[in-house]
Amino acid sequence: MKGKFPIERFAGMRTPFYYYDTELLRATLQAINDETRKHEGFCVHYAVKANANPKVLRYIREAGLGADCVSGGEIEAAIRAGFPHDKIVFAGVGKSDWEIELGLKHDIFCFNVESIPELEVINELAGANEKIARVAFRINPDVGAHTHANITTGLAENKFGIAMNDMESVIEHASQMKNVKFVGLHFHIGSQILDMGDFQALCNRINELQNQLENHHITIENINVGGGLGVDYQHPNRMPIPDFKAYFETYAKHLKRRPGQTIHFELGRAVVAQCGSLIARTLYIKEGAHKKFAILDAGMTDLIRPALYQAFHKIENISSEEPMQAYDVVGPICESSDVFAKQTDLNTAHRGDIMAIRSAGAYGEIMASGYNCRQLPKGYVSEDFL
Ligand SMILES: *Cc1c(COP(=O)(O)O)cnc(C)c1O
Repeated sequence: MKGKFPIERFAGMRTPFYYYDTELLRATLQAINDETRKHEGFCVHYAVKANANPKVLRYIREAGLGADCVSGGEIEAAIRAGFPHDKIVFAGVGKSDWEIELGLKHDIFCFNVESIPELEVINELAGANEKIARVAFRINPDVGAHTHANITTGLAENKFGIAMNDMESVIEHASQMKNVKFVGLHFHIGSQILDMGDFQALCNRINELQNQLENHHITIENINVGGGLGVDYQHPNRMPIPDFKAYFETYAKHLKRRPGQTIHFELGRAVVAQCGSLIARTLYIKEGAHKKFAILDAGMTDLIRPALYQAFHKIENISSEEPMQAYDVVGPICESSDVFAKQTDLNTAHRGDIMAIRSAGAYGEIMASGYNCRQLPKGYVSEDFL
């Protein structure tokens, strides 16, 4: 089974480009809203870093999600897309002064603070601007996730967050400051997580920390559990919408919530990965000594995940129904790592055939670069082809 594409509309178009199936994006957002509604105080922020295409952001904002930003540029993109300022959170281990000032200017909901030096700078800049900055502390929960080593973030060895042992003194420190207000705790253990046990482990850790803080008479208004829910890259057609029911139920069941507490989620990949495909043309079929290569006009500059994380993306030859054959699918960039897939089965390919590299809506277009002086790929939504 292949995905559905308006292939006849692709005929005259310059490739490569990203194609976003907005029907699927809408259905995904609907599923998120349906599931969160079942649980009191659940609130989802979209992690803008996964995909900041303005058209994609607009659908997400229209569905009522907030925005989780990790840079000043993302705050600007979120504001431009119409996200309300009080639904924007700002995380990141190295926030520049101008970025903090931008967050203060827009009176964003919360800064997720990752160190004491950062807290001091936020307090100072908020003071200079006569503002009170709401802050949450990102705590490193030392919880591993069963995912790629480059995308675990919640282990003690990672650069992210404040150590659990320092948590109380940091909160104490903040309470002495005039221009910050402590509003909660923040966590994020990694990405592409499919084992609900990992999220359960995070819940258990948060429960411990919450008890510990309550012993010191510290109450937590907001708990932000981060994102990280994964998608099925192997079967984008079988499982186009991630299992949000199981995901939110894991938190509802295992996190010991206090009355009136808000639980924030920061989902990126699970919202946008499956609705996006990178559309490329086959330039040449090259018969190597031992195998066939399909050489595309898209490369690692357009979609870097295979080269960067050895990520798997399903590839479909949407121009052909001819018998399957194995190909190494590669790009034109002058790097040996510019390979999308090795010995993958495709319908027999010819020059000019259109290939869809699936599940590319997250960490795809946004990570594109101009290496080799290549143009950045454009992004289109289904409505652009009506
Ligand atoms: C990247 C990131 C997310 C989103 O992760 P996904 O795996 O795309 O859901 C959420 N929160 C923080 C702090 C992040 O850095």
